[in-house]
Amino acid sequence: MRNNFRPFRLSGAAVHRLTIATIAACAIAPANMGYAAGGGEIVVADPSKHFDAKGKEPSKFTIELQDGLRKTLPFDDQRDFDEAKRGFIAAPDYKQIMAEAGNVAWDIGSYEWLLEEGQTFDTIHPSLQRQAILNMAYGLYEVVPDKIYQVRGYDLANISFIKSDTGWIVFDPLTAKETAKAALDFINEKLGERPVVAVVYSHSHGDHFGGVRGVVDEADVKSGKVKVIAPVGFMQHAVSENVYAGNAMTRRMFYQYGVLLPRSPYGHVDQSIGKNTAAGNLGLIPPNVIIKDDYEDLTVDGVRMEFMNTPGTEAPAEMNT
Ligand SMILES: [Zn+2]
Repeated sequence: MRNNFRPFRLSGAAVHRLTIATIAACAIAPANMGYAAGGGEIVVADPSKHFDAKGKEPSKFTIELQDGLRKTLPFDDQRDFDEAKRGFIAAPDYKQIMAEAGNVAWDIGSYEWLLEEGQTFDTIHPSLQRQAILNMAYGLYEVVPDKIYQVRGYDLANISFIKSDTGWIVFDPLTAKETAKAALDFINEKLGERPVVAVVYSHSHGDHFGGVRGVVDEADVKSGKVKVIAPVGFMQHAVSENVYAGNAMTRRMFYQYGVLLPRSPYGHVDQSIGKNTAAGNLGLIPPNVIIKDDYEDLTVDGVRMEFMNTPGTEAPAEMNT
């Protein structure tokens, strides 16, 4: 699990060759993570005190350590905060996205206590606090003018939209159907309605494919009308990692990120690579285009994409585009 800087290069009729870097936040996401991540209920606790009656304040040793880190780490460098705002188009007028099961799948508002100016939380490592604030980016962003867009802050990963001749090519449709659909609806609302002509799964982790049913209809994939493109070995590894090893990974994640705790400086804060996984419907539509060779080219709806398989990197089945 780490930040995955994935250059992708595309060209097409109206698109000169260009290279961009995008951040695809990654996590190993078990099949039942959608439910597990939020536990079906999001609890936000008063940030000024511990949420548990038996909970303790940080010791003087912890406070000294955090103070030392604040003095020695380069927190004066604010460039990341400026860059995180670059290309911002709009935020939606809602903070919550509901799951089909009736629970709240996503609530960016549950983390807003992080945004109060000038706070230092002695219960949070200063670097995690900084990262958690950067991860509050929420809404639609332009990455390459009139060509590449992202919706951020709707799930653990970002979802990217490439403007093709007649529609959208979607890169990595989040963890949950509900958040992926909300992202598609939002970009269509802001930039005009376009059909999804293709989906690319960059790799076999659930936060990069689980929401696919929110952006395409499986019948259109089966008929070949919509291309779903994935690296060689995708299905084998998506199943072996997320189903066979799913329960063990879910339990590990509970401890690693504290996702079942109330959202508070004393509880769940962030997952560093993104805020959290959405507690919605995780699904999978098998790809109908497999990238088998080391390098392959494919033109979809006027956009030429160059794929490079990179198995065994951040995931066992993975590719750059
Ligand atoms: Zn990943």
